[in-house]
Amino acid sequence: MRALIVSDVHSNLEAFQAVINDAEARGPVDEIWSLGDLIGYGPDPAAVMEILMGRPHQAVAGNHDLASVGKISLEDFNQYAYAANKWTSGQLSAEQTKFIEDQEIRLEFDEFTMVHGSPRDPVWEYVVSQRTALASFRHFDTFWCLLGHSHIPFICHSTSEEEVTFVEFPLDVELTLKTNRLIINPGSVGQPRDGDPRASFAVYDSDRSTIVHHRVEYDIRVTQDKMRAVNLPAPLVDRLSAGQ
Ligand code: ZN
Repeated sequence: MRALIVSDVHSNLEAFQAVINDAEARGPVDEIWSLGDLIGYGPDPAAVMEILMGRPHQAVAGNHDLASVGKISLEDFNQYAYAANKWTSGQLSAEQTKFIEDQEIRLEFDEFTMVHGSPRDPVWEYVVSQRTALASFRHFDTFWCLLGHSHIPFICHSTSEEEVTFVEFPLDVELTLKTNRLIINPGSVGQPRDGDPRASFAVYDSDRSTIVHHRVEYDIRVTQDKMRAVNLPAPLVDRLSAGQ
């Protein structure tokens, strides 16, 4: 079984489609695993949700998903995210709204724990430091934890009870998952923030127990033109070109 692992698609249809095409060119994609923030920020929330809902998937809700259906307060967001989420909430069908309302914020299956932010606080906490990573390892029991939210790809090893090590998630290198505990962030499909504007994702192969990180280019200008056409905030449009 091959799973395409995506996070922070953020209503970016061109990036999502490019990722699916790229993953499928490398082999069959049996399931899509979405680590949250499928929507928010971008111009195509309904189309992006339709793709995920139409395929076998495992998916948790992120802060933007929950805000778009009123399950958490929009007041907790900055002005640009606030504006984008307000617009997004008007774009979803009743079925799509219900899908998000019914979504879990944490899933455990096989040897994976899946959350958006962190296993300690799945909705809001960013795993970006020794402190948050150490706390995270204490809040899940499986070998591996998949998460997103920071839009920055990484692998974090649990070196000891008191120490963790962040390493780069190398591109196009097949990593074998053994029984050492890891936190894995595949980066963001629709709004990368690590200085590389290409869509970031991972592919897990359960038969071989491997995971690979890939980046793929997409037509950023198409997404940006759509964002301008519906008056989404300019800083959200501009940041896609920079990957920041
Ligand atoms: Zn996000």
